[in-house]
This record gives sequence, structure tokens and C-alpha cells, in this order.
Amino acid sequence: MNRFVSLVLLWTLAVLSATGPVTGAEEGEISFEYHRYEELRKALVSVWLQCPSITRIYTVGESFEGRELLVLEMSDSPGTHEAGEPEFKYIGNMHGNEAVGRELIVYLAQYLCNQYQQGNESIIDLIHTTRIHLMPSMNPDGFEKAASQSGELKDWFVGRSNAQGVDLNRNFPDLDRIVYGNEKEGGANNHLLNNMKKAVDENTKLAPETKAVIRWIMEIPFVLSANLHGGDVVANYPYDETRSGSTHEYSASPDDVTFKSLAKSYSQFNPVMSDPQRAPCRKNDDDTSFTEGITNGGAWYSVPGGMQDFNYLSSNCFEITLELSCDKFPAEDTLKTYWEENRNSLVNYIEQVHRGVKGFVRDLQGGAIFNASISVEGIDHDITTAKDGDYWRLLAAGNYKVSAYAPGYLTVIKKVAVPYSPAIRVDFELESLVERKEEEKEELMDWWKMMSETLNF
Ligand code: ZN
Repeated sequence: MNRFVSLVLLWTLAVLSATGPVTGAEEGEISFEYHRYEELRKALVSVWLQCPSITRIYTVGESFEGRELLVLEMSDSPGTHEAGEPEFKYIGNMHGNEAVGRELIVYLAQYLCNQYQQGNESIIDLIHTTRIHLMPSMNPDGFEKAASQSGELKDWFVGRSNAQGVDLNRNFPDLDRIVYGNEKEGGANNHLLNNMKKAVDENTKLAPETKAVIRWIMEIPFVLSANLHGGDVVANYPYDETRSGSTHEYSASPDDVTFKSLAKSYSQFNPVMSDPQRAPCRKNDDDTSFTEGITNGGAWYSVPGGMQDFNYLSSNCFEITLELSCDKFPAEDTLKTYWEENRNSLVNYIEQVHRGVKGFVRDLQGGAIFNASISVEGIDHDITTAKDGDYWRLLAAGNYKVSAYAPGYLTVIKKVAVPYSPAIRVDFELESLVERKEEEKEELMDWWKMMSETLNF
């Protein structure tokens, strides 16, 4: 914590001592430009200075070359998980040369801060009910490399990987292979990395950026996320890796219906992404798996070791992958247009974190039950409760049977009618099996007493 605080102080001093506008825009405006690493830090600090009561800057770790993986958090109580409040994240620029997402996340931070100050009620409501984490760049080294190329036309690959040459979106533990095995032979359908934390720490194949993000995913009870890329225009949902190992194959996850709905909640507000007449980015691109601006990952092309499926299979977080632009590193004067195309989608997608079923799992004395499982009949993917017994189970509209289960307790099942939104509150009170045994013993004793009296033993 102290390290974060001192970093922030350092930046503040740097910003305050700088002459002239720090981001190329006056306070309350959005600077539609590329931000190199130093400029990115300053842009985040200036949002923090403008909206200090609802923001915090922290870092989840360092890149291979020592740049911070910076996050701007927006919440009504920055720095803490509030019981019952869902957590959301956007990660940009995982491929360092895919630059639009990185900039859109910076603009989004500036926009949310401005709108909050100007009294936009839906934005105020969103920030008061959600903890939002914005990471503009997961691959700051790659971005610097891509941005250093002279001229407006950037190479298609330079800067994609991290400084070690690792493609970060192929570098995550391949949990799809484990779950595909478990589908056949039985076994866990969620949190597949539990008890393997040491193995992650000691795995030398994982890039520092990957390790840092894995720890982040494990530490914070994220509910929903998107991972911003470029090179095409589509919202891509799990699974990304095919079951058979073939290059193209529709690979439904147990939450296929919900994921489609989440992906559409992004594409439908982006006029380019949702345009059925949109020509493929390049003449020979195979976009046949795209409908309404969305695609199943595996149906498009198989990605083993990706971050999207890793989120879903290692944590409670549902993640989709957003491809935002045909050009990975377009000319700076087009950035404003990309913002305008994506602004409503970016905000609407955060609001999806308030869908499905949410609530608390407690014992009969009101104590929180951490790590209880929430299962939905017909969907072979459980989610678990956070520290306060709080949970969020994203679901598309429909009728469901939802149950809460924890070792040592009696399972409780409830029928729930879920609208499109907002989320329905369903709390569970679980009776411990020890208590139940005591009760049963007492009942038996009473019965025995009654019987002996009646029969005059
Ligand atoms: Zn990419």
C-alpha cells in the first residue's frame, strides 16, 4: 500500500510542477490523442486530481521493462470492496500495438469523471453502485515499441508481444483443456486454478504482465470484464479455444446464452460493429461467424491460453474480448470518431454487471458464508461467494432454479424469475448440518419421551 501511495504522490508532484496543460486538454475536456507512457500516467493523475473522492490510482505490477501496469479505480469508496457491490474491469492494449482500446479507456475515465461532476444521474448511480477498475495498458512495453515507429502506418506485428516476445493473449494457463476433460470425466466446472497459486508463481513460462494480471483476477471478486483489442470490429465471447483443437468450431460455454446477451449489449450501441452491411476489414477476412456484431471465439478462430477463457474458468469473472478497429494503430485524428462509436457501448457494458441474480449467503445466525457455491440448474458452471458472503450470478432473462451450497450446510434451492435487468436480490440462509443433527436429536428425544409416557415404560 505504501508503495502505491508514494508512487501517486510522486506523480502528483510531477504533474503539479509541470507547466501548461498536462494532457493537452483543459479540465473537463477529453484529450483525443495518443498517450505515451509518461503521458498516460499524467492523464490518469489528472483524472484523479479532478475527481479525488471517487478515484484511486494503483498498480498491479510491472512489465518486463519495469513500466507500471496502472489502474484507475472509480467507486464511491475507492480502495475497498463494499459488501454487495459488484466489481468490473476493462483491460486495454494487451497486444501493445492495438492502441485504440488503450486510448478509449483513458477517454472513458475522463468522461466518467466529467459526467459525475456535471451531475449525470445514471453515471453517478453507476459509480455509486459499482467498483470500476480501468487498466488502459496491460502491455506498456509493446505499446512504446509500436508507437516508436516513424510515420503514420505502423507494422501489423511490431509491439504485439511483450518485451520478451511473449504474446500475452496466448500466455495464460490453458484451463479450457482441463474443463473439456472434466466435462467428459467429471470434475470441477469452476475455479480451476484453486490450490495452484504456487505453481503460477513458480511458472517461468508466464510473463510478468501475465502473472500480475492473474494475481489481480484472483484477488478481487470481479464479476464482469472486457479485454480490448484491435484488428477487427466484433464482440467475441467464450469459449475462445475449441474442444476438438480444430481451428474453427463453435465452442459454447455453459453460459452461452448469457455471454451472447453480454456481447450484444456492447455491439448494439456501436453503429459500425452492429451494421449487418459492414464490409470485412480486409478483402480476404473470414467474418462468416459474425452475426449482429458478435461471434463465438472458437467459431472465429481458436485461441489457446487466452485471458478471456482464463477469467471464466479461474474466477467468478465473465469476460468478453472486444475488437474495436480494423486498423490496430490508426491515425491520431481518427481517435475521436472511435470514441464516439464506442462511448455508449462502453458505458452500457459496465451496466451489465447489474444483471442476473445477486445477494448474500449467510448461516442462521447471520454470519457470512465465504466460498459457498451458487449453482443454476441446467448451467454447468458455478460461481462462489466473496468474503462477505456476497455473490453476483450473471444471467440472461428467464426462469431459473438457483441453489446455494456450502460444505457442512444444507443446500437451499430457490425458483427465480430473472428480468433483463436489474439483478434480482436473492439471499440464502443455510442451516448447518451440526445444528440440524442437534435438532434431530432433540426431536428424537421428545418423541422417545412421549412414547415412553404413552406406553408407560
Ligand atoms: Zn489483440
